[in-house]
Amino acid sequence: MAFLYKADPVLGREWARLFAERRPDLPFHIWPETGNPAAIRYMAAWVPQPDVATRFPNLEVMFSTGAGVDQFDLSTLPPGVPLVRMIEPGIIDAMVEYATMAVLAIHRDMPDYLNHQREGAWRKIRVRRAATRRVGILGLGELGRAVLAALAPFGFALSGWSRSPRAVPGVTCHAGAAALPGFLAGCDILVCLLPLTDQTRGILNRDLFARLPKGAALVNTGRGGHLVQQDLLAALDSGQLSSAILDVTDPEPLPQGHPFWTHPRIWLTPHIASMTQPETAVEAVLANLERHERGEPMAGVVDPARGY
Ligand code: NDP
Repeated sequence: MAFLYKADPVLGREWARLFAERRPDLPFHIWPETGNPAAIRYMAAWVPQPDVATRFPNLEVMFSTGAGVDQFDLSTLPPGVPLVRMIEPGIIDAMVEYATMAVLAIHRDMPDYLNHQREGAWRKIRVRRAATRRVGILGLGELGRAVLAALAPFGFALSGWSRSPRAVPGVTCHAGAAALPGFLAGCDILVCLLPLTDQTRGILNRDLFARLPKGAALVNTGRGGHLVQQDLLAALDSGQLSSAILDVTDPEPLPQGHPFWTHPRIWLTPHIASMTQPETAVEAVLANLERHERGEPMAGVVDPARGY
C-alpha cells in the first residue's frame, strides 16, 4: 500500500517529510517515481495523468491538491474511485486575507487612488461608511462563508448566493438561478467564489454585470472560466463597473499584450489568492485517510453530477 503525489515537486518533498513523520507505514512517492504501480492506493494530484485507471489498478482514493477540481477530467478516474477536494485551513486563511484585502481596497477607493498617483493628482474621495456598502459573494461554500465572517466586523451589508438554500448568520442568503437577479441588485462589490462547473462557466457576463448597481466592482477569485473577458471590458468602458480585481484568468498566464495587463481599472494577480499549505493539507489528507480506513465518509468528496 503506497501514496503517490503528483503536483509541485518542491512542496512534494515537504509532504514526504510530513508523511514520514505521521504515517511511516505508508510509503510515499513523488511523481514521476511511483514504485510498484500496483501498490498505489492513494494519490494526490493537481492534474493527474489521463491513464490513471490502467496505470494504478488498485487506486482507492484520488485527492485534489487544490480546493477546486475543474482541472480534473472525472471520466478518466476509475469507476468507484472518489475524488476528494482540498479543504484545509491554509487555503481558507489565505483566501480570507486576499478577499478582505480586495474588498477593502475597493471600499477605500484604492484603484482610483493608484490612478490618481500615476497622474500626479492629490485628489480626495469622500470616505463612505462600510455600513453603506453592500458586499455580495457568489458561493457560500467553505471559502465564501469564511470570507463573509471576516468581513462582518467592518459593518458591510453582506449577502451571498448559493445553489441550495443556506443560512449564514448576519448574511442575507439567496439560492438558485431565480434568486440571482435580486441578489445582484444589492451588490456594490461582488466577489466570485464559485467552483467552475458547466453551470457556472461564463457566469460573470454582460447580463450579470447589467443587473449590478451602476458603478459596482468585481473581485474574481473563483476561476478564469467564470469571466467573459470582453463583457468585463465593455462594462468597465461604459462605467457599469468601476473596477475589477482578478486573481484568476483564462488562460493563465494571459498572453503578453492582453488588455487586462494594462487596463487602468483592472488589478491582476497570478492566481495567488491562496495556496495549499503542506502542513495543514497533509493533516487534512491524513484525517480523510483515517476516515476512509475506518469506512467512514471523507470530507470534501466531489459529487460528479454537480461537478464540485
Ligand atoms: P465549496 O464547494 O465549499 O462551495 C461552493 C459554493 O458555490 C457552494 O455554496 C455552492 O452551493 C455554490 N455553487 C456551486 N454551483 C453553483 C451554482 N450553479 N449556482 C449557485 N451556487 C453554486 O467550494 P470552496 O468554497 O471551497 O471553493 C470555491 C472555489 O474557489 C473553488 O472551486 C475554486 O474554484 C476557487 N478557489 C480559488 C483559489 C485561488 O487561489 N484563486 C484557491 C482556492 C479555491 P451549495 O452551497 O448549494 O453547494
